[in-house]
Amino acid sequence: MSARVDKHKPDTLRTTSLAVHAGNERGPSGAIRTPIVMANSYALPDEPASMSWSGTEEPLYTRNSGTNQLGLQRKLAALEKGSSADDIDAVVLASGVAALHGVFFTTLRSGDHVVVGDVTYEAIYRLFTELLPEKYGIDADFVDTSDPDAVRRAMRPNTRLVHIEAIGNPTTKVTDVAAIAKIAHESGALLSVDSTFTPPPFFRPLEHGADLVVHSLTKYINGHGDAMGGAVIGRRELIQTIKDDAMVDVGGVISPFNAWLIMRGSVTLPLRLRQHLDSAMRVAAFLEQHPRVAYVAYPGLEAHPQHELAARQFGGAGFGAMMAFAVDGDAATQDRFVQNLRLITSAVSLGHDESLIVHVAGGADAGPRVQFYPAEFKRLGHLRFSIGLEDPDDIIADLDAALAATFA
Ligand SMILES: *Cc1c(COP(=O)(O)O)cnc(C)c1O
Repeated sequence: MSARVDKHKPDTLRTTSLAVHAGNERGPSGAIRTPIVMANSYALPDEPASMSWSGTEEPLYTRNSGTNQLGLQRKLAALEKGSSADDIDAVVLASGVAALHGVFFTTLRSGDHVVVGDVTYEAIYRLFTELLPEKYGIDADFVDTSDPDAVRRAMRPNTRLVHIEAIGNPTTKVTDVAAIAKIAHESGALLSVDSTFTPPPFFRPLEHGADLVVHSLTKYINGHGDAMGGAVIGRRELIQTIKDDAMVDVGGVISPFNAWLIMRGSVTLPLRLRQHLDSAMRVAAFLEQHPRVAYVAYPGLEAHPQHELAARQFGGAGFGAMMAFAVDGDAATQDRFVQNLRLITSAVSLGHDESLIVHVAGGADAGPRVQFYPAEFKRLGHLRFSIGLEDPDDIIADLDAALAATFA
C-alpha cells in the first residue's frame, strides 16, 4: 500500500519537468492525476472554531481554495519563479481581466496615480481612462514605456503602480522590464507586468525586478482555446492580499473544471512555446519580404524599433509568437485577404493551438487608443496574428495563397 503515497518530487526540477509535475497531487483513490473536484465545500475539522473562515491555503470553500485551484496556483508559482530569490506564490481567477482587476483593486486607493503603458490590452485602456478615474478617483498617465526617461518623467510622489506589457498588445512594442522596475522602485511604486504574450519559460519578469506578473491563462498557458482563466504571481505577502481582497471578498474565482483544464493544457507549455516561437520567426520573415505586405511588426525582425532590446531581454529564447501586419490596401482589402485564408482562423484571442487572425481597422473607426499606435497602424489598420501550432510551411502557404487571391 505504501506505493500509493505520492513521493515528494526533487527540488531541482527544470521547467519542462515542472510543467509536467508541479501542483499535481494524487487523489484519495490513488489516481496519479489530481481529479476534478466539483464541490463547493470541504469537510471541516472536528473543532472548526479555531480556523479562519477566510483562509485561502487549505481546501475549505471553493471561492477561497478549491483543490484544483490550489494545484494550479502551486504550478504557476513554480513556472514563473525561475531564479527569483523571493518566496513566490500565485492566485488564479476567472479571467485575465479579473486578474488585472485583482492587481488594481488591491494595490490602489483613491488619490493614487498610476503610470500605464500606452500600448496595453484594450480593457486596461478603458479601466484607466474611464472607470477607475471616474468612479474611484485614481489618476493614470499613458506613457511610452519603451522610453525609460518618459516613465521617469511621469512618476509623481503618489505614483503607486507602474503597469506594462513586456511585448505590447497589439503593436508588439517591447519594454525593458529591468529598467522600468528600477524607476518604479526608486519612487516607491510597484511594477506589474502583463506577461500574457511572454509566458514562462520564454520570459520571467520576476527575474527582471517585476513585483507582480499577470497572465491571461486563456491564452498560451492553457493553449487549447477551451477555457478562460487569469493569474497573478509575485511575492507571497503581495499575493496573499490579492487572495484576501480580490478573490475571497470580490469573488471572481475560477471554476474547478477550468482550473483542471488549464492544469492539463499547461503540461505542454514549454514544448508548445518552442514551436510557436520558431514558426513565428519564419512566418514573419516570409511576410516581411512579400511585396504586397505593407508592414510587419514583430520584435524578431531587425527593422523592429526595439529589436536589440528584445534580443537582450529575451536572451535569445525567441521574440514571441504574436505579430501585427497589413496588406497593401484599404480596410476592404484587409477583409478580403482574411476571407481568402483557409487554414488560419478569423477570431479574437491568441496563444491557441490554431493560428488566429483579427482585422482591426485604423483611422477614425479605431477608437481613441489608436492615437498611441505607429503611423502605419493608424493609416492601414492592422491584422493581429497569433501563430499557432500548424506546420509553419502550411501557415506560410495559406498566407501566400490568400495574398495571391487578394491581389489577382
Ligand atoms: C487576452 C488578454 C487579456 C485578458 O484576458 P482574458 O482571459 O480574456 O480576460 C489581458 N492581457 C492580454 C495581453 C491579453 O492578450
